[in-house]
Amino acid sequence: MNDLSISIEPGLGVRGAVVTYGSRGRLTTAVAGVDLDVTPGQILALLGPSGCGKSSLLRAIAGLEPLAAGQVAWDGEALSSVPVHRRGFGLMFQDGQLFGHRDVAGNVAYGLRGTEFGSSRSSQEERVAQMLDLVGLAGYERRTITTLSGGQAQRVALARALAPSPRLLLLDEPLSSLDRGLREELSAELGRVLRAAGTTALYVTHDHDEAFTVADRVGVMIAGSLVRLATPGELWNEPGSAEVARFLGFQVLPDGDSHVLVRPGGLQVVEPAEAGATSDGEVTGEVRGGVVISSRFRRGEREVVVDAEGWGEVVALASTHAEVETGARVQLLRHPDR
Ligand code: ADP
Ligand code: MG
Repeated sequence: MNDLSISIEPGLGVRGAVVTYGSRGRLTTAVAGVDLDVTPGQILALLGPSGCGKSSLLRAIAGLEPLAAGQVAWDGEALSSVPVHRRGFGLMFQDGQLFGHRDVAGNVAYGLRGTEFGSSRSSQEERVAQMLDLVGLAGYERRTITTLSGGQAQRVALARALAPSPRLLLLDEPLSSLDRGLREELSAELGRVLRAAGTTALYVTHDHDEAFTVADRVGVMIAGSLVRLATPGELWNEPGSAEVARFLGFQVLPDGDSHVLVRPGGLQVVEPAEAGATSDGEVTGEVRGGVVISSRFRRGEREVVVDAEGWGEVVALASTHAEVETGARVQLLRHPDR
């Protein structure tokens, strides 16, 4: 099989995609040969740390960035000579980029001209109302953009992107300008809306909670390469490499010649009396001593950074009333099932 062969699978097919910036001598390879398929109805999240090439890949798929090598196809047909506006793809970005001089309805109707929904004024209005209803903003037609909250503005942006019924929706960190609570709420809702509309989507994010909430499958990108593609459950149970595990928030502890992965919350600071034993004296996990380096409250728990014997620097959870002053000696318990 040569590099450019495109599968005849329906939907999006990306083969050997390379995106570079600059010119010889000062060349940045942002995307280093990515293969990817998104079949109709599927929601795929592209997850990776900032700078790993997610936006570059998304923009190349949209046609906004040229490919240095490789191919992007829809239903097996190469799109290299198809301009952005003829690909039938919708786009949504972090900043919804709404038109301030149009009201909500004017924004949502923006992409409808020339589509099956744009034939008459009444069919446009009907489509706008349907989309606003879908994103939980029924009746917002006449509101001006400046009176919307950040979350409402992103809902309008989503309604606008979905209105022409794009065959693929490309979303680039659509929630990252919102605060955490709203982001969690909206990511769950966004997943529901995309499924209700039957949308095929590629969703770029650096936030693994968001990726796992929204998507059916998650592709992990590191340094320009797609290193793992799996369902959220598979990824969580088997990250596949220490690199991916670390990015997902696992701790990678040395264990003889190998290493062991510990899930977030898998290490706990225990009171000396209960170290290694439950109330009836059973050993519940591996215990190691260590010295507290620092401690902070995060998401309702006390997180303690400990220099642990044989493990090095690790993060453990402590009870919120525990004595964990910097420099204190503590015992750590590793839960065997984590
Ligand atoms: P991500 O979206 O995962 O944060 P990007 O695709 O934006 O990553 O960037 C990938 C790499 O390409 C980074 O090293 C970034 O600095 C570089 N890059 C992105 N856009 C440009 C550009 N327009 N010109 C030069 N370098 C760029
Ligand atoms: Mg980006």
